[in-house]
Amino acid sequence: MSHIFPRHTKAHLPVVAGGEGCYLIDTDGKRYLDGSGGAAVSCLGHGDHAVIEAVKAQMDRIAFAHTSFLTSEPAEKLADLLIEHAPGTLDRVYLVSGGSEAAEAAIKLARQYHVEKGETQRGHLIARKQSYHGNTIGALSAGGNEWRRQQFGPLLLQMSHIDPCYEYRYREDGESLEAYGRRSADALEEEILRVGPEKVMAFMAEPVVGATAGAVPPAPGYFKRIREICDKYGVLLILDEVMCGMGRTGSLYACEQDGVAPDILCIAKGLGAGYQPIGAMLCTAEIYSAIESGSGFFQHGHTYVGHPAAAAAGLAVVGAMIERELIPRVQTQGEALMEKLRERFGQHPNVGDLRGRGLFRGIELVADRETKAPFPPEKKLAATIKKKAFEAGLICYPMSGTIDGKLGDHILLAPPFIIEDAQLDELVDKLETGIEAGLAS
Ligand code: PMP
Repeated sequence: MSHIFPRHTKAHLPVVAGGEGCYLIDTDGKRYLDGSGGAAVSCLGHGDHAVIEAVKAQMDRIAFAHTSFLTSEPAEKLADLLIEHAPGTLDRVYLVSGGSEAAEAAIKLARQYHVEKGETQRGHLIARKQSYHGNTIGALSAGGNEWRRQQFGPLLLQMSHIDPCYEYRYREDGESLEAYGRRSADALEEEILRVGPEKVMAFMAEPVVGATAGAVPPAPGYFKRIREICDKYGVLLILDEVMCGMGRTGSLYACEQDGVAPDILCIAKGLGAGYQPIGAMLCTAEIYSAIESGSGFFQHGHTYVGHPAAAAAGLAVVGAMIERELIPRVQTQGEALMEKLRERFGQHPNVGDLRGRGLFRGIELVADRETKAPFPPEKKLAATIKKKAFEAGLICYPMSGTIDGKLGDHILLAPPFIIEDAQLDELVDKLETGIEAGLAS
């Protein structure tokens, strides 16, 4: 009997024995194509020797030193590298152990920034209905995913959620994408005015939505308008790139493609590529100097912040992305994947939308393409597709999302950046097996 506490208590999971490139292998020798990089984590694939050697070398030097006393070489170098490529005036890096920690740190920093500046009434966070920022209680409060929140209310923060930028569901007939992007962003201004601009501390959003609805990119101009609104009211912009960042959408930072830079940025997942647990919060020089010239102390911290072995992994991963020119590869392989998805599912009666950027792609399943009606929740379509695809040897990331009480089924694909053309074909074949078995059940 296992003493592991699994997420699904009835699950009996195979045991992983190893991994090679885009595949995971269990103890029975069965191979699984990692079509979602776990959860958009394994961007370099499995068994990357350069990263493994970098972690080992750091472990031989020193595994851990508490950051209250000492900094470390890999942490310093990783921070330099991240800032060298970062958009806007992002200038400081706070290293953590994962995405939820990055989101918590971001929310607390936004609050402390306003307090340091004497604007103590600014405590309200605005986020979006279709979002996920992590499972710790602050990050969960910020996220708008009803399914993940429902058992934990009332949550902690003073906060509210506006509609997501989600053109498949929210754009009106005849409305251009640009007009929709503007209208969708203007919902933030309305909400700031409703709450009272002097009370709002920050707006938090994922540039490309991941874990709540597969790979939903913003409409053109949406984030530029969001940036203008934030600036107009002194509201900080927090972008959560935990899932969509680190090259996943075809640029190192996802927001580059929308021509905006945030005040605070969260990254994780692809930063360590699964070789170590690591995440980071980046902030602007302005925010940092408000803390520096105020209390001089960020009132936050976890034991493992800036862990040297994790930082060594992050440094090796980002270095590999740049040196091996993997980000242009994400663009070409991402287009190739999209083309194959269009060929296979473009006319499928139950595929409502195919979308995404780079190697971050989403499929939305519907009972009826005309009305966009989702399948009933009792069908448990996403869960069945996950199971059937897994049986066929594919790891993908199906999910059910609730927005305004409507439930829809989505599949997120986020394969390793090294994926070859033949493996893209294998992915699409096995996905089709999973989808057809799920629809038939
Ligand atoms: N933010 C986003 C956008 C995420 O997708 C996730 C994880 N899916 C998190 C935060 C939380 O990250 P973690 O699971 O590493 O705590």
